[in-house]
Amino acid sequence: MSQPGSSNHSGYMHTIIKQIGRKGFIGELPPFCATEDFDSYLSAKTIEKRQAILKNQSRYEFSEISQNEKFGIAHIKFLRKMVDEGYNKHFRCLEEYLGFYTPPQRRILISKNLTLNQYSPFPAYSDIEGETLDNLRIPPHLTFIYIDRNIINPDKEPLLTMTLDMGNKEENIIRCDCCEKGVVNCYENPNCRCYQLNKRIQEFQLKRDEPPTEFNSFSPILFTHTNDYFWRCIGFSCSSSCSCKGHCSNNTFFMIDRKLFPFEMYRNDPLMGFLLRSPVFIPAGTPLMEFTGEVMDHVRKPNVDYAYQVTIGTDTKLKELVKEQPFTEQYQDLLKRIMNRNFHIDPTYFGNIGRMAGHSCYPNLEVVRVYKRSLSPAHARLIMISMTDIYPGTPLTIDYGKIYEERLSEICRCGSFSCPQGHHEELKNLNFLNVNT
Ligand SMILES: [Zn+2]
Ligand SMILES: [Zn+2]
Ligand SMILES: [Zn+2]
Ligand SMILES: [Zn+2]
Repeated sequence: MSQPGSSNHSGYMHTIIKQIGRKGFIGELPPFCATEDFDSYLSAKTIEKRQAILKNQSRYEFSEISQNEKFGIAHIKFLRKMVDEGYNKHFRCLEEYLGFYTPPQRRILISKNLTLNQYSPFPAYSDIEGETLDNLRIPPHLTFIYIDRNIINPDKEPLLTMTLDMGNKEENIIRCDCCEKGVVNCYENPNCRCYQLNKRIQEFQLKRDEPPTEFNSFSPILFTHTNDYFWRCIGFSCSSSCSCKGHCSNNTFFMIDRKLFPFEMYRNDPLMGFLLRSPVFIPAGTPLMEFTGEVMDHVRKPNVDYAYQVTIGTDTKLKELVKEQPFTEQYQDLLKRIMNRNFHIDPTYFGNIGRMAGHSCYPNLEVVRVYKRSLSPAHARLIMISMTDIYPGTPLTIDYGKIYEERLSEICRCGSFSCPQGHHEELKNLNFLNVNT
């Protein structure tokens, strides 16, 4: 079993695999260091037991700005470094970005860190008015097991598991040989295979006058148009299998993996679930996090509300691109069969903070696909990118899609000003003449 302070993956893998059975993780695991409650939380087998653990450890917290500063330490260090090195000459708002929001004066801290990884402390709070430690309710959906990478259950998805394994074989893997000191310049290196593919996928985007959305490590990822754009707006990133090890300009996960942004999960409306926000400023175009879960093609109700579709069986352009790749015949056959199916990422039992982003009719995040190592549905990953500048403390939101919106058409509580269920009409009751008095 893993010990607090241990910094290897074997404890993490061992315990999670023991919990969830024989399942495959997709992609390299990020740095991990177990928290003190890692073993006890994961050995609680039922939702009820985990709810009891969370309730027992809950405590009040009073107006702790310093607590937020603690969570924001990587972010603050990064901005400080930019200011100290003179970047504030180019970016006028850097000092302002160092600001924090003010959390509610009294809150209930349910978990200091739901990830159970000391390197990514994401706390969970209840800010519901009138809630006390005695009447605190822990919703079952908070008891999911935190995973930083997608997983596949070989018993449920044998063909997809085979695709993942075969795609990761030396003869099928898509990788590059770029090698330099420091951060490698794969992006815009015409000889880099990963960059070439990244560029090819860009051609899937609708032909418009606007520049295409590009996926690289350091420039903001900007969407000029988001309607139905998801399927066309795809990236391809370098991975640890490349010579550059992904320490390069062609890796959309570069910033995500450095965990610069602190986040907190919170709940302030008893009719809604947990939401997500950051106590620090997030510039538009930042890849913030991955949306992880279990990859499967059939998601049962009611889990389907929180699952995100990741591939579409009618994606002819992607299928054509796959046919061009120098994969083995056997792998090509497998891809031909599996790419006709629609896969989803279901975060109901295993997931990360991505699942806590609330629904909004006018969201501030967009979810898009970025592939690593190969082009199979098992290699597709969802990442969440800020579409606008997001000020400290603002709820992070995504669009849950048409079916969800139709079901909520009468009762949407997203609270955005332009929500069809919003209360903008009440503005007519505002006495405009007295606004300045
Ligand atoms: Zn390269
Ligand atoms: Zn690279
Ligand atoms: Zn590469
Ligand atoms: Zn709404």
